[in-house]
Amino acid sequence: MSPALIEELGRIVGPRWVRHRRAELKTYAMDGLPTRESYPGVVVIPASSSEVREVVRLLHLAGAPFVARGAGTGLSGGAVADPETVLIALTRMNRILHVDPVRRRAVVQPGVVNARLSEAVAPLGLHYVPDPSSQAACTVGGNVAENAGGPHCLKYGVTTNHIVQLEVVLPDGSTVELGSPHGEPWGPDLVGLFVGSEGMFGIVTAITVRLEPVPASVRTLLADFPTVRAASEAVSSVIATGIVPAAMEMMDRACVAAVEASIYAAGYPTDAAAVLLVELDGQPDAVEAESETVRAILCERGARSVRSASSAADRARLWQGRKKAFGAMGRIAPDLAVQDAVVPRSALPDIMDRIAEIRDRHGLSISNVFHAGDGNLHPNISFDRGDPDLVHRVHVACHEIMAVCVAAGGSITGEHGVGSDKLDYMPWIFSPETLAAMRAVRRVFDPAERANPGKVVPVHACREWRAARGAQ
Ligand SMILES: Cc1cc2nc3c(=O)[nH]c(=O)nc-3n(C[C@H](O)[C@H](O)[C@H](O)COP(=O)(O)OP(=O)(O)OC[C@H]3O[C@@H](n4cnc5c(N)ncnc54)[C@H](O)[C@@H]3O)c2cc1C
Repeated sequence: MSPALIEELGRIVGPRWVRHRRAELKTYAMDGLPTRESYPGVVVIPASSSEVREVVRLLHLAGAPFVARGAGTGLSGGAVADPETVLIALTRMNRILHVDPVRRRAVVQPGVVNARLSEAVAPLGLHYVPDPSSQAACTVGGNVAENAGGPHCLKYGVTTNHIVQLEVVLPDGSTVELGSPHGEPWGPDLVGLFVGSEGMFGIVTAITVRLEPVPASVRTLLADFPTVRAASEAVSSVIATGIVPAAMEMMDRACVAAVEASIYAAGYPTDAAAVLLVELDGQPDAVEAESETVRAILCERGARSVRSASSAADRARLWQGRKKAFGAMGRIAPDLAVQDAVVPRSALPDIMDRIAEIRDRHGLSISNVFHAGDGNLHPNISFDRGDPDLVHRVHVACHEIMAVCVAAGGSITGEHGVGSDKLDYMPWIFSPETLAAMRAVRRVFDPAERANPGKVVPVHACREWRAARGAQ
């Protein structure tokens, strides 16, 4: 990275907030994907929208590529930058700017940590619904870029359903407001387009979110099953009644064993082949009636026991085990390849069998913890990246799992994004014409493709786009 550019960046944000020594860059060389490491050329850490604007404008004039970064908890390599690229870390922009309890809105900077927002508005009887399991660390800006989900998105929808307005610095350094604070988009739904764009359309510098009332009543059920198939079938049976639980999460035996051996032990039965965590919320009478119906279905489908959380503390403990499950898997091996795919709910039982077969054939350790209600799978492969043969088998198994999910009518990501990890799978589900259209949309925001270069849309697959460009 040129010393002149580093000096200019320091002039904008203060030299202290520009990191370019190798030891400093190491912190930013990975995100949650353990198979890709790359040191950025320089890291710049702005404190305000105007500093982001100035930085991006400078990079535009210099023709330099850049990558935005929140907390770096992404699991698809999206927040990792190459040595010729500037990484713009948004973690200093961590203020909640405004809360309107009457209209149930909050305006936040992108670096606000997800869980802090709900904590801040809890005294008003409100919360921010999307609750990724990483919510104690990930940022709302990163959630917007990934269209993050979470256990409670089954009933309430994912991030895109909770964002009404965005302030965005485009890759040329100009600022645009997308959407409206009222939540009714005027003109085309550009907020919907931006949410989930994985850092390719610019940097979001302010976010207006919907807040929802904390439910009047909540019931959390823990059911344990003798087989994964029975638990998977129970999920479909519950949804078939028309009841939509707030959350319906599954953990298999390997996952339960890791959680129960860790400091996050939640009292899950370690002899169960799978456990389901089902949460119902709403008005007390409705919750009472629905939880009795759900309990009966779980038992009919073979649950050995169904217990209800006995107190708020018990409920928090049951959820802590689920939400810290990835961390608990650190006990199994030093590295974890977290896969993310979606399948039709009805395909869950067969897919779980196929994943077990792939695990056994490659001699791998796979634990499953996932948003069963939406068919959003997370098969997690524990491994040690110091063992090249094991790394190869992990790679092949990930590929096979994804192929099985796509063949069942599923998709290659439910919530963790494409980033660099899923690039090769994009042509499996999108035609060259569709990929070319995606790239054309990207170029509306970023004609030179300097924002998060090389991610999401595989360039080699865009034959149509290349042909059209060649003809120009
Ligand atoms: C233990 C664990 C559990 C997880 N559970 C879930 C889960 O339940 N649901 C879920 O959806 N995800 C989950 N994730 C994945 C991850 O936490 C989410 O994708 C999250 O939204 C990433 O936020 P971040 O701040 O860490 O973003 P980063 O990882 O820093 O960045 C992610 C992407 O967003 C872009 N980006 C970041 N900030 C901005 C910005 N201000 N403007 C434009 N682009 C930006 C980056 O360029 C990158 O492409 C989990 C991850 C871990 C490690």
